[in-house]
Amino acid sequence: MDSLETELERARTLDESELADAIETIGFECTRCGACCKAESACGEGGESDNEVGGAAGGDSGTHGSGENAASAENDAEPHTATVFPDEIRRLQAAGEYDFRDVARPMPYGLADGPDGPEGETFEWALQTDDCGDCTFYAEDDDGMGACTVHDDRPLICQTYPFSVALGGTSQPMGEAVDEEGMVRAHECEGLGRDISRAEAEELAAALKERAVRELEEAIGVRDNYQPVDPSAGQVVVHDSEGAKRPDGSPYE
Ligand code: SF4
Ligand code: SF4
Repeated sequence: MDSLETELERARTLDESELADAIETIGFECTRCGACCKAESACGEGGESDNEVGGAAGGDSGTHGSGENAASAENDAEPHTATVFPDEIRRLQAAGEYDFRDVARPMPYGLADGPDGPEGETFEWALQTDDCGDCTFYAEDDDGMGACTVHDDRPLICQTYPFSVALGGTSQPMGEAVDEEGMVRAHECEGLGRDISRAEAEELAAALKERAVRELEEAIGVRDNYQPVDPSAGQVVVHDSEGAKRPDGSPYE
């Protein structure tokens, strides 16, 4: 892979019109199925799941992140994981007067299973999940249609799901791509292949470019600010672009 700086330069010069062309070719309309906002198994079903959203979510919902075992889930399903940047956490907090932990949790990848729960160092925040492993902001109406309760403030990963840009150093939500056109990759989603208006494709393209730039800026910030720490047993430290933090978002000192 080229350096993160090289990939960031490529991201900054992405042609939004070409991205929109690719999105139109692939096609997309969100059906509000909620798959990208939920743990893979319905609450109480149990069973294996590898639901993983690596990066961004989009449409009217989003799955993003990566899965792991942070589970407070009542079943064995992997909780939903969607990457959220520090500034996005603050925006979500402000939107609902939420505490930090109401919004985000340490991305479980890389953490060890300690006697009292996860411990160690990780390099991302994930959207908080509920007892079922679903995104804490996900809701369903009486007809089972999914909705995002923070729609206007949802992270870029959610705004752009099910798409990602084929650049090194950026995330692939929900695992490997299922379709690809030019620089645009499409990930698992039942809304793919549906007609999309030019205006919506352009809106998605702009968000997709912004996300690629922000992901690479964040990755460079994490790399440059990383100071190894040696958390004691039972502690979790999150290294983001602003430094080392505790799970409640306060500085780790
Ligand atoms: S998986 Fe696709 S169709 Fe389903 S809620 Fe997410 S973006 Fe919409
Ligand atoms: S913030 Fe909204 S769009 Fe994103 S995963 Fe949660 S419910 Fe879905």
